[in-house]
Amino acid sequence: MQVIEQYESVVRSYCNNFPTVFEKAVGSCLYDTEGRRYLDFFAGASVLNYGHNHPALKKKLIEYIENDGITHSLDMASSAKVDFLQTFEDLILKPRGMNYKVQFPGPAGTNSVEAALKLARKIKGREKIISFTNAFHGMTLGALSVTGNAFKRSGAGLPLNYSDSMPYCGYFGEDVDTIEYLERFLEDSGSGVDDSAAVIVETIQAEGGIKVAEQKWLQDLQALCRKHDMLFIVDDIQVGCGRTGPFFSFEEAGLDPDIICLSKSLSGYGHPIAVTLLRPELDQWEPGEHNGTFRGNNLAFVTATEAFKQFWADDKLTQEVKAKAELVAQALNKLVAQFPQAKGEVRGRGLLQGIAFENADIAGTVSAVAFENGLIIETSGPEGEVLKLLPPLTITEAELKEGLDIIERSLGEALKRLGISSKEAV
Ligand SMILES: *Cc1c(COP(=O)(O)O)cnc(C)c1O
Repeated sequence: MQVIEQYESVVRSYCNNFPTVFEKAVGSCLYDTEGRRYLDFFAGASVLNYGHNHPALKKKLIEYIENDGITHSLDMASSAKVDFLQTFEDLILKPRGMNYKVQFPGPAGTNSVEAALKLARKIKGREKIISFTNAFHGMTLGALSVTGNAFKRSGAGLPLNYSDSMPYCGYFGEDVDTIEYLERFLEDSGSGVDDSAAVIVETIQAEGGIKVAEQKWLQDLQALCRKHDMLFIVDDIQVGCGRTGPFFSFEEAGLDPDIICLSKSLSGYGHPIAVTLLRPELDQWEPGEHNGTFRGNNLAFVTATEAFKQFWADDKLTQEVKAKAELVAQALNKLVAQFPQAKGEVRGRGLLQGIAFENADIAGTVSAVAFENGLIIETSGPEGEVLKLLPPLTITEAELKEGLDIIERSLGEALKRLGISSKEAV
């Protein structure tokens, strides 16, 4: 840690929250240089949906490297890319009746968002994009301009414009339909809101504090986009690849987005890769009009292809996620009832759930105490007020229960440390 404190920029953040040097990781566990085991309820912010170093993916990767498979090829054709595209088509898109072209932008999620925004503006010939309160779409300037968080936005150091932020589902409470609100702005030529090229939305705002959009709200939003000739972009970077159960988070709502952003767990192994899925008629780029050195990460292709075969040839994983999600929901609801003084609210869907606390210090303290107790768990939301559970989807039930027990103990201890006694319960 001393070398890190001495040489690494203070911009680092997760290593402040989890102050140890990690060395190994298998399945749902991380191990530090002292050999201490940590259960991982963070999973690389949903990059590791199939856990760390999944044996089937590792085997394919080692074979590929041993055989001098291509590692880097810009966007030249490689057999790994051919296999990836064919398997993605056969196991993911076709069974869902989805017809999309696959664009490889740079390797990060934010690159996928940049490509989506650029293409939408090019196609519609409009400058503005509509985004939502508490949205998170990445840290490059385009993605940041459609991100809500003031702290992250301020890092840009210049005005972030050509976007309008509108209230997300439930922003004014359950009784206000924010789609009606948005519609009024779009229909009134005196509203001051210009015609926009696209709307970009997350079905669940993970970074924004696990805010879940209702299915009807999402369906109405899609219909509104069609009515106003705006492209409908779904950012499924964090909640796609099975996090909510199905491969895409919007399958149950029956959405039909024009553009879909995917990254985080796509390679299934932690290798960076991002895709922007386009309806075929939107594929209006000129060759090279949007490019990048690290497109088509072949090692990511190899593990992604194997992950599709391992986990998405049937609906077993989807069913497992649903069962584990039920277990988590029950445990969290029990916890909130057990500690009424914490004033917690359970949020989430699938294996992205958490507790929002009125007092943001509670979430941060639980995370710190949980780390002492051998559990890695993060917070999210504008004030870090939400304790956010993101275990690998492949976690065993025993490990899930172990982690939930640590959360229970850590919440009790956190309340004690913060001096929040049960008497404060009202
Ligand atoms: C993580 C994330 C991004 C950005 O991905 P990076 O790889 O960090 O650039 C964009 N959108 C959502 C919803 C995310 O969770």
